[in-house]
Amino acid sequence: MRLSNYFLPVLKENPKEAEIVSHRMMLRAGMIRQQSTGIYSWLPLGKKVLDKVCAIIREEQNRAGALEILMPTIQSADLWHESGRYDGYGKEMLRIQDRQERYMLYGPTNEEMVTDIFRSYVRSYKDLPLTLYHIQWKFRDEVRPRFGVLRSREFLMKDAYSFDLDCKGARAAYNRMFVAYLRTFSRVGLRAIPMHAETEPIGGDLSHEFIILADTGESAVFCDRQYLDMTVPDNDIDFSNDAVLATIVRQWTEPYAATEAMHDTDGVWAALSASRKIAARGIEVGHIFHFGTKYSEPMGARVAGSNGQMWPVSMGSYGIGPSRLVAAVVEASHDEKGIIWPEAITPFHIGIINIKPGDILCDRFSETCYHQLQNAGFECLFDDSQERTGSKFAIMDLIGLPLQIIIGPRGTVSGEVEVKDRKSGKRKTVSLETAINYITGKQ
Ligand code: ATP
Ligand code: MG
Repeated sequence: MRLSNYFLPVLKENPKEAEIVSHRMMLRAGMIRQQSTGIYSWLPLGKKVLDKVCAIIREEQNRAGALEILMPTIQSADLWHESGRYDGYGKEMLRIQDRQERYMLYGPTNEEMVTDIFRSYVRSYKDLPLTLYHIQWKFRDEVRPRFGVLRSREFLMKDAYSFDLDCKGARAAYNRMFVAYLRTFSRVGLRAIPMHAETEPIGGDLSHEFIILADTGESAVFCDRQYLDMTVPDNDIDFSNDAVLATIVRQWTEPYAATEAMHDTDGVWAALSASRKIAARGIEVGHIFHFGTKYSEPMGARVAGSNGQMWPVSMGSYGIGPSRLVAAVVEASHDEKGIIWPEAITPFHIGIINIKPGDILCDRFSETCYHQLQNAGFECLFDDSQERTGSKFAIMDLIGLPLQIIIGPRGTVSGEVEVKDRKSGKRKTVSLETAINYITGKQ
């Protein structure tokens, strides 16, 4: 992509409304634009990152055996009357009336709707286990929307729902999602710690919040330092082996980790040595819980067991906020100059800066570099603009691509370019050929 053809509306000044780094940097880097309180548009650079986050989430959901569907954003209030949640949900729910004066709502979550889909088709235990998920916009009229897309009113959510005959099956489904979550967060470059969590408002008895440590986090969290060194299962993990998954979940839940609401200052926490105690702030990026028959019972989602008797299915739900996740990555990975994207979700792999467009050698080198890297499968953002050099550098640092190739008149006369690693800031002067070979791994 040539910058001259791109839409990257970077802001020179720090936006006043942005209180935290991720909000400030996402606005400045032209990733998002606020449309009204807590409601954002995603501009090209932001959309690319959001899509990459969703692609990773999707891969890991599919790997864990979940099946993707897409439910609508608008739901009928009738379903919520059936589950008994319509009145209780309160002001967070955006309630709408259509032209027939029917009561509708913009979904804050989809337990009712997915239970309705399930009960319409599934009759037998032989069709279980079943886990369905979708990635869809949600609306919650938050009391305090803030921090940009970290706590917005409209936000993207991957929500999965599992259906099993009994608690044992539901526990296995829970474990599959637990491990899928460990892998998902690790792949987007985050260390998320599963913490015992309260089960309200949706209810249930088994629940973990996945939390990343960040000073700007809204929740106080307490955990064992051991979590920082634990290894996340690699991609050979066998999701059909319940015993292996149960062992992993045990390992990841044994050390102490709790949010403030669940924190027990006595017992295990008190016994931990001071050097192992982490008392910090955290951002919730995912939440999984088992709630049994809370919806299947009132909504009549029953299946026949092996003896023919009908049972309400045992369910769980599993959420990740991809839009929040993008901001969480920025909170976790930046410096004073801007964002530093992890390789897996960077909007472009490489930024190419032509310091002097119009200079024959600079143009030739830049074009060669751009074409060869693009052809080798790298996504490049090629700054071919007439901006001044300082500003080009600042923008490239702000948008945080992991690698930069800087092409200027001083280097090109001796056939050289500069390669800069965004994270370390280290620069190396090498021949164009060496740079390209190094990147494409052909050395
Ligand atoms: P919080 O306590 O932060 O309000 P929640 O417990 O209400 O979160 P869930 O209902 O478990 O959240 O939703 C699943 C996931 O959706 C959360 O882990 C988070 O990643 C995301 N999410 C929830 N609310 C928001 C929001 N207002 N803005 C952005 N993402 C959100
Ligand atoms: Mg909430």
